[in-house]
Amino acid sequence: MRKLASVQKIKALHAIEGADAIERASVLGWQLVVKKGEYKVGDLVVYCQIDSLLPDKPEFDFLKPRGMRIRTIRLRGQISQGICFSLSILPEDFEIYEDADCTEVLGIIKYEPPIPACLSGIVKGKFPSFIPKTDETRVQVLQKVLDKYKGEKCYVTEKLDGSSATYYLKDGAFGVCSRNLELLEDTENSFWKVARQLDIENKLRVLNKNIAIQGELIGEGIQDNKLKLRGQTVKFFNAFDIDQFEYLNYADFIALFKESDLPIVPIVALDYALENDIDAIIKKATIKSLILKDVWAEGIVIRPYREKIDLLLSNENFNNGRVTFKAINPEFLLKYGE
Ligand code: AMP
Ligand code: MN
Repeated sequence: MRKLASVQKIKALHAIEGADAIERASVLGWQLVVKKGEYKVGDLVVYCQIDSLLPDKPEFDFLKPRGMRIRTIRLRGQISQGICFSLSILPEDFEIYEDADCTEVLGIIKYEPPIPACLSGIVKGKFPSFIPKTDETRVQVLQKVLDKYKGEKCYVTEKLDGSSATYYLKDGAFGVCSRNLELLEDTENSFWKVARQLDIENKLRVLNKNIAIQGELIGEGIQDNKLKLRGQTVKFFNAFDIDQFEYLNYADFIALFKESDLPIVPIVALDYALENDIDAIIKKATIKSLILKDVWAEGIVIRPYREKIDLLLSNENFNNGRVTFKAINPEFLLKYGE
């Protein structure tokens, strides 16, 4: 499970214009509002990320009106993401050090949106072990990775708010998976409907190798269809060579989807020289969708042109070490109450 709650340092404190009871704290790459004077720079605190679901205990009663979920909020014009508690909320025998994971000991779990009926399907089995599940790490916890890869040529795609879909062909067998499960073919399930509609099985057969493609299923009935699409479709963001157990580099990824005539996620920028400034990256993520120009995009995903695996990431169980990450648009989170 992800480190939703951990021991972290207050890196900086800043005044908020026109506010005297609150101030802005920097923790990891996050910005959040705290009570003025409650913490000093350098203090260790318990920091909980957005999407933490806190347990129903008296000390967290104040979160009841918000469904116990930590969300992005705006206070006095300042965007605030996450929440800090004093170390005293930890059990006495908890070993305190910077970055210590206290998610489990506090009984915190990740908020997961409910799965609509059209996506649940009939389970065939667990997600195949010969393909990695899709995931992206939040840029706010990756300062070290940004420092290491500063200047690296990257491409940036729009992050779509749908449901993760994986289609594969292995040793002649075609498979369809949701984010965590493999699904049996049926007439109602959207992952399968889209597979038939886009003729994905035949398009994979033509490639004549063991391959998986992964994308975001979007459209009617999925995550409130914020992009107001008709019907449903999938926009791809990964091509994975099953025999080599590696992702295709950007150029081969593009060539594959062009050849197969299958849609990919919108490209926001090419030739982006990676910056090691988290705030600048969050600004870059604060954009309208390329699919529907009046609505906020969920954010962006940044990847190097040449795929990279790094121990800085695998060591923390981020994406099997793959260098790729997301920056979520705070305006999107505010607008949709996340
Ligand atoms: P999250 O939705 O916050 O759990 O972030 C990770 C997920 O974003 C991945 O598992 C994908 O399903 C999804 N996603 C949507 N758009 C993209 C994109 N452009 N690149 C990579 N992943 C994406
Ligand atoms: Mn998502």
